[in-house]
Amino acid sequence: MHNPADIRRRDLHLGDTVTVYKAGDIIPRVQAAVVRLRPAGAVEVPLPDACPRCGGEINKAQERWRCAKGTSCALPALIEYAAGREMLDIDGLGRTYVASLIESGAVTDVADLFTLTVDQLTAASGSAKRGAKLAEQIETARSRPLSRVFCALGVLGTGRSMSRRIARHFGTMDAIRQADAAAMQDVEGIGPEKAPVVVEQVAALAPVIEKLIAAGVNMTEPEEPTASVHGEGPGPLAGKVVVVTGKMAGPLDGLGRSEMNALIEKAGGRAGSSVNSKTSILVAAPSASGKPSSKAVRAAELGVEVLTPEAFADLVADHLT
Ligand SMILES: [Zn+2]
Repeated sequence: MHNPADIRRRDLHLGDTVTVYKAGDIIPRVQAAVVRLRPAGAVEVPLPDACPRCGGEINKAQERWRCAKGTSCALPALIEYAAGREMLDIDGLGRTYVASLIESGAVTDVADLFTLTVDQLTAASGSAKRGAKLAEQIETARSRPLSRVFCALGVLGTGRSMSRRIARHFGTMDAIRQADAAAMQDVEGIGPEKAPVVVEQVAALAPVIEKLIAAGVNMTEPEEPTASVHGEGPGPLAGKVVVVTGKMAGPLDGLGRSEMNALIEKAGGRAGSSVNSKTSILVAAPSASGKPSSKAVRAAELGVEVLTPEAFADLVADHLT
């Protein structure tokens, strides 16, 4: 539903009931509207005539429309994301200071953060003390592992755990940049649809990556001292692929997917996204309805061990902080 030509081709109206099919056996795709179920007076899906984020022009050159400003439309959100705790972790670089740095022209991309002067940071934050503190934090951020630096680039479709997988798989930014779509598909969780999109975005980010390198930002993923080449270390989950589904409870209450993935990796295992023949353990919270999830059904079919969040917490107790 992000492709206007497709929406028109399928003659979709607001309130339509649609048929959905599994494209490539995985991705649900809208096939067609069930016209006889269309509400009376339903109107065609309205298409925007301005960028919903900045109100500027839309570039309609390709089927998937984009803001004519490109990435700079999303710049404030991207910089805030990049400075986040699980990315560059520049604590204190909040929305107001980011806006001020962008407005002054000091920051036009993520890489510019690393060449800011204390004076610029003082001007943006309105205090010499805060400016100095921010400069110190940016200095520390220069040596973050590649997984966090890569994540900070904001490549679509690569969040925290995917960035971690990409960084661990390739080891260096150089190797990531040299990867073609086929090589990118070797990363667990990247399929034939996503691989070329990631490769294309990494290529488009070349100027930003060059600036980061020039600014002395770390471009390698440190090897875990005890980890094997596959990123699997010793621990209760050594050599195991663990898939998580549902809302965590007990000692794991409140842990999101990326935190669960980090926990799995800390305990020596690998996080998987779907249940298949390689899956060792499925951590499944019982659903409110009592009906097993599709992942749980699949696990049962394959004879995959299923653990409750509580039982899994016991298993990795030494790695819970
Ligand atoms: Zn825009």
